[in-house]
Amino acid sequence: MGLTGLEIFKHLPKTNCKKCEFPTCLAFAMALANGKASLDACPDVSDAAKEALSSASAPPIRLVKVGAGDNVVEMGDETEIFRHDKRFNHPTAVAIVVNDTDDVAAKLETINGLVFERVGQQFTVEMVALVNASGDAGKFKAAVDTAAANTEKNLVLVSEDAAAMEAALPAVAARKPLIYAANKDNYEKMTELAKGSGCALAVKADNLEELAALVDKIVALGYKDLVLDPGSRATSKVIADMTQIRRLAIRKKFRTFGYPTIAFTTKEDEQEELLQATAFLSKYTSVLVMKTAKKELLVPLLSWRANLFTDPQKPVAVEPGLHVIGDATDNSPVYCTTNFSLTYYLVEGEVDSTRIPSYILSVDTGGISVLTAYADNKYTAETITKAMKACGLDDKVKHRKIVIPGAVAVLKGKLEDESGWEVVVGPRESSGIQKFAKSQFA
Ligand code: SF4
Repeated sequence: MGLTGLEIFKHLPKTNCKKCEFPTCLAFAMALANGKASLDACPDVSDAAKEALSSASAPPIRLVKVGAGDNVVEMGDETEIFRHDKRFNHPTAVAIVVNDTDDVAAKLETINGLVFERVGQQFTVEMVALVNASGDAGKFKAAVDTAAANTEKNLVLVSEDAAAMEAALPAVAARKPLIYAANKDNYEKMTELAKGSGCALAVKADNLEELAALVDKIVALGYKDLVLDPGSRATSKVIADMTQIRRLAIRKKFRTFGYPTIAFTTKEDEQEELLQATAFLSKYTSVLVMKTAKKELLVPLLSWRANLFTDPQKPVAVEPGLHVIGDATDNSPVYCTTNFSLTYYLVEGEVDSTRIPSYILSVDTGGISVLTAYADNKYTAETITKAMKACGLDDKVKHRKIVIPGAVAVLKGKLEDESGWEVVVGPRESSGIQKFAKSQFA
C-alpha cells in the first residue's frame, strides 16, 4: 500500500515555494499520494526524503515496453480510472493473431498492409501475436522465424510450452517481443527466459487470486516487466477483472496489480468480435489480441481508440493557416473554417471531392468548432481578417472573395468591412460544399 498524503507531506521541504506548480507542499503531497504528480517536480526534496518516498512516487501502474529501437510500444504508466479526470496515457496496442498453422507469410503481408488514414491521422495495428496453435515447437519456431523476416511489427509470442518458447525466442529476442505466458507450472523457466532476454513477460492465471499469487512469485524471482492476464475470456468477466485490476492498482495502490494487462477476443462472429474488442479496449486492456484482420472492422475500432486516448481537456486541432488543395492558383476558391480537426478534415474532404483546386483558411480558434468558436468570440470578423493577413491571402488570390460557413452568415457584413473582401455565404454543413462549388465555381 502507498503512503497517505500526510505521510508524504512530512518528508517535503514545507516552504510552499510553488516550484512544483502546486500552491502548497500539502497540495503536492496529496497529488503525489493519488499518483497525479511526480516527485521529480519538487527540486528541493532531499535525497533522504526521495528514498523514503520512492514507493509513493512510483507510478501506480508500471511502464512496460515491448519492442526495440524506434519501434517500441509502451504500456502501463496510467494514473486514471476515468478518462474525463485527466487522460489515459498509452493507447491499447492491437495485435492480430497469426497461428503457426496458418500461411504465416501471407497473413503477415495482410497485417503489414493495415494502414488507414482518417482525419489526418494514420492508424495501424502495432503487433502480431504468433500463436503456437499446432502445439509443435518446430512449427512455432518456423512461424517466429518467418515473422522475423517478414514484418517490422512488434511481436507477442504465444505459447505456454517453455521449451517451445526457448527454441523460438532467440531469433527475435533483440526485437524484445512480449513473451506469453508464465503460468503456475512454467513460471520459473519463463521468468528465466524473460530475464535472460530482457523481454516483457505476460503472466496468466485462472482468476485474480491466483494471478496475485503468481505475480508475487515472479517478482520474488527478481522480474517486474510484467503484463497481466487474469485468464477470463467471457466478455463480462474480462471487463470485471480488468476493472478490478485497474481500481486496485490506482485506488488501493495494490502493487501486485500495478502492471499493464492483456486480453484476447473469443467471438467467432466478426461483428461480435468487434463489439468485444471495443469493450476490452475501453476497459483498461493494454494489449488487445484479435483474430480479424479486416479493414472494415479495424477502422471503427482504431477510430474509437484514437478518440479514447486523446486528452479530453485539449481539443484536437490542425495547424492554423492557409491549406492548399490541389494545384490552387490565384484564381482558386477560398473557403474559411476553424482549426478544429474534425471540422477541418470534413471540409477538406468535401473540397477535395469538388475536384476544383482550392484554398482552405483554417482560423486558429484553439481547436474548437465554428459555432462554438463564434459564441466564444474566437471566430469573428477580426480573427478571420487577422488570419487572412497572416497568410498573405491578398497576394495569393486575385478575386478577393472568401466563402464562410452558412452557420455564421451573420459575419458577412462585418467581415467585408474589416477585410475589404467580398464574403460569400457557403452551405451550413460541409456536406453541401460539392453542390455549392458546382453552382459557384464550376
Ligand atoms: S516545489 Fe517542493 S517545496 Fe516547493 S511547494 Fe512544491 S513540494 Fe513544496
